[in-house]
Amino acid sequence: MTTMTDVFGVLADDPITELAAQTRAQGMYPYFLPLEKSEGTEVVMEGKRLVMAGSSNYLGLNGHPRVRAAAIEAVQRFGMSCNGSRLMNGTLAMHLELEERIARFLGKEDALLFGTGYQCNVGAISALLGPADVAVCDKEVHACILDGVQMAGAQLARFRHNDSADLEAVLKLYAGTPALVIVDGVYSMSGDRAKLPEIVSVARRNGARVYVDDAHGLGVTGPGGRGTAAHFDCVPDIDLITGTFSKALASGGAVVAGSAEVIDFMRHHARSLLFSVALSASSTAATLAALDVLESEPDRPIRTQRHADRVLKELRAMGYDCGTSETPVVPVLTRDAPTTAAAWKALLDRGIYTNPVISPGVAPGRERIRISFMATHTEAQIDQIIAAFADIADIVRPGQVES
Ligand code: PMP
Repeated sequence: MTTMTDVFGVLADDPITELAAQTRAQGMYPYFLPLEKSEGTEVVMEGKRLVMAGSSNYLGLNGHPRVRAAAIEAVQRFGMSCNGSRLMNGTLAMHLELEERIARFLGKEDALLFGTGYQCNVGAISALLGPADVAVCDKEVHACILDGVQMAGAQLARFRHNDSADLEAVLKLYAGTPALVIVDGVYSMSGDRAKLPEIVSVARRNGARVYVDDAHGLGVTGPGGRGTAAHFDCVPDIDLITGTFSKALASGGAVVAGSAEVIDFMRHHARSLLFSVALSASSTAATLAALDVLESEPDRPIRTQRHADRVLKELRAMGYDCGTSETPVVPVLTRDAPTTAAAWKALLDRGIYTNPVISPGVAPGRERIRISFMATHTEAQIDQIIAAFADIADIVRPGQVES
């Protein structure tokens, strides 16, 4: 356990900081890299143009003229900040408009906006749960879910990724304890969808409630981008759905949607909402505009998925292990940190920006390069991504290891 004194001291044996220092010295440090230009499928880093294959701008709406104009107009009307929390002076008429709009879009009675997806999950979960409750989480849920459970002081149980038999076994262990089953709609590291129909039926059979963090599903999957619950046609079976605007909706902020009663409870108990500044007018207006574009151009999520399907097919044919991916989030398993770093650097040298993910971000042995797609990628850019992976096969040695 690191103490504050250690942190202010020599940092002698923090393995993560040490690894960062080593890789920086080798010119191989892949994190916190500053981009000089970034708004779409192409970015500029150290003066070099790169194809962005590591962004959650799934619909390519960041920088879309309507989204940009809405944000600019909001800044002109309201300035940069709400200068207060929603509870006090920070609520704008457009916050209520977006809450109403997104509740309708997701098929829920009411919705509540937060400053970020992280704040949303931490706030919603810590408002809802207490020490007498158990959060039963998929092994691959996002870190902010776990932080919310910890903040709630609730019990935490995990079940094997997307394994409803294991979920049932865990729920049985906690029989008699009020349980909230928490899953991601689309998993941010594996790119598969939660098997919601099975999960819902196991939860119901065991008297548990269901919470879906659809950060990567909102705008991307389901009819018209209405998310993972809509994809499985089970919206009424999900008690709470959260989504962030920082990915497909190309803005900032997030939402929790559910029954009017539960949302009103959160409005008065979610500490990350009550004690933090309201979502900026520019992000709120940009999200409203992004929803307008999505509703008028329903082929955008289809285009994103088509790119992912093509790349998945080609990479799997080359022998790469892309796990259970079925969405625009595509992992390419590299299985150890040195291979991940070498693959990331080789792809960068070939003009492709990707996300290297190592332990503790994923379990040891499950290291990967994560790529993701945008509706606005051109076929030529997709060709370039595929060609780069063909080129680096000797580094990753696809086909030599089983998933
Ligand atoms: N949930 C999931 C599944 C995520 O992947 C992320 C972002 N990586 C978040 C929540 C947090 O969203 P935000 O970046 O808007 O805080």
